[in-house]
Amino acid sequence: MNLLYSNDRKAEYPASWYAATANPIDRFPVLAGDEKADVCVVGGGYTGLSAALHLAEAGFSVVLLEAHCVGFGASGRNGGQLGSAQRMDQEDLERLVGDDDAAKLWDLAEDAKALVKSLIAKHQIDCDLKPGVAVLGLSTGEQQELHDHAAHLSDRYGYDQMELLDEGAGHGLCPSPAYRGGYLDMGAAHLHPLNYALGLAQAAAKAGVRIYESTEVTGIEETAPAVVHAAQGKVTADHVILACNGYLGGLNGKVAARVMPINNFIAATEPLGTDAARVLTRDVAVADTKFVVNYFRLSADNRLLFGGGESYGYSFPADIAAKVRKPMVEIFPHLRDVKIDYAWGGTLAITMRRMPYLTRVAPNILSASGYSGHGVGTATHAGQLMALAIQGQAEGFDTMARVPTLPFPGGATLRSPLLVLAMTWFALRDRLGL
Ligand SMILES: Cc1cc2nc3c(=O)[nH]c(=O)nc-3n(C[C@H](O)[C@H](O)[C@H](O)COP(=O)(O)OP(=O)(O)OC[C@H]3O[C@@H](n4cnc5c(N)ncnc54)[C@H](O)[C@@H]3O)c2cc1C
Repeated sequence: MNLLYSNDRKAEYPASWYAATANPIDRFPVLAGDEKADVCVVGGGYTGLSAALHLAEAGFSVVLLEAHCVGFGASGRNGGQLGSAQRMDQEDLERLVGDDDAAKLWDLAEDAKALVKSLIAKHQIDCDLKPGVAVLGLSTGEQQELHDHAAHLSDRYGYDQMELLDEGAGHGLCPSPAYRGGYLDMGAAHLHPLNYALGLAQAAAKAGVRIYESTEVTGIEETAPAVVHAAQGKVTADHVILACNGYLGGLNGKVAARVMPINNFIAATEPLGTDAARVLTRDVAVADTKFVVNYFRLSADNRLLFGGGESYGYSFPADIAAKVRKPMVEIFPHLRDVKIDYAWGGTLAITMRRMPYLTRVAPNILSASGYSGHGVGTATHAGQLMALAIQGQAEGFDTMARVPTLPFPGGATLRSPLLVLAMTWFALRDRLGL
């Protein structure tokens, strides 16, 4: 079984609201024959596209190979939230890696957000970038924890973009009976994820990257130079970047043992008209504190784009709309009978500690993946960090790579059944309100 093909048709975007509103872009050719490059990038999501773009801008010759089409994976399907910080809370990072590295990781996360905003501005990517992500708690206890967290980021790191929301202000922003208060982070942002990916691809192609689509990499010879094999051709390159994230399959065993694919789902309702104000009163995105997080925002045409629900096997559920409707109605009971026009799933990758896994799988092969639902900024940034590492400036890459990443129990073979058990337990805790 290969996640590259288990839920999708070859080289077709899923029928998402994003695909329905994608900016037009010319398709790239299939690799046919042998090519040489300084760097061969495998995977055309944010990680691979950003790495390729930065390398080409630095004067390297770059080939990028994508099994389907650019932005096909999580990068073209996600919630579009450009969140602050690393995926793991700073408080936990301070305990795990010490204050010095935690401070460096905070700075790198701020760089990641700034990088996305500057790439969009520099390459004039039309992707509806807008400021503001709120995090809301489901109880007064959670509201207080969110306030304490914001205070920690302000005191320790001088972060001043978070506005505290008490219960009244929380309901003023999001009139759901399920939520209390939390904070609104105006340094975070949201965007159209597929249009962002397509814009990166166009910028990379303009910078000279040779992009090939419908070109699945089937094997990599870890030699110097390395040889990257696809069905109808191969690329000989001094360096290789693995940027396959949740769709890696068995291409590299070391990465597969530490990075686990999971599926997550989004629905887009019919346009809500004046009912939109019963969902959100400002054009910001929201995430909540559940273990299986709910996240949502309004689209440009006033639909609710609601993300919620996960699955841990190879196949998506048969009725994705029904799967997402359940948590959506828990948060917005008045939308019980709303029509869902689009519902889609995507595969992302998580690690045991929810920090990305950046590593050298061989002296000339770098890999970055496992952003654990926090990849809009972090994956774009990891691509840049790998590009810099290849240029001999590895400080940022090494700081990320120093974060200890545990293999999943059971390795690549048994990780899935054990994960299902663990995740089901945590999801049950959500339902029981523990
Ligand atoms: C439903 C959903 C909601 C999410 N919401 C958010 C959010 O709101 N905010 C956030 O920050 N993050 C979110 N994420 C996570 C985020 O989308 C990812 O972390 C990010 O897109 C990862 O980018 P990537 O380039 O590493 O991987 P991907 O975008 O998945 O790209 C990997 C690419 O590699 C290709 N590939 C794989 N194997 C091969 C091969 N052998 N040969 C050639 N090509 C190959 C695939 O076809 C794919 O296009 C979400 C993810 C999902 C699925």
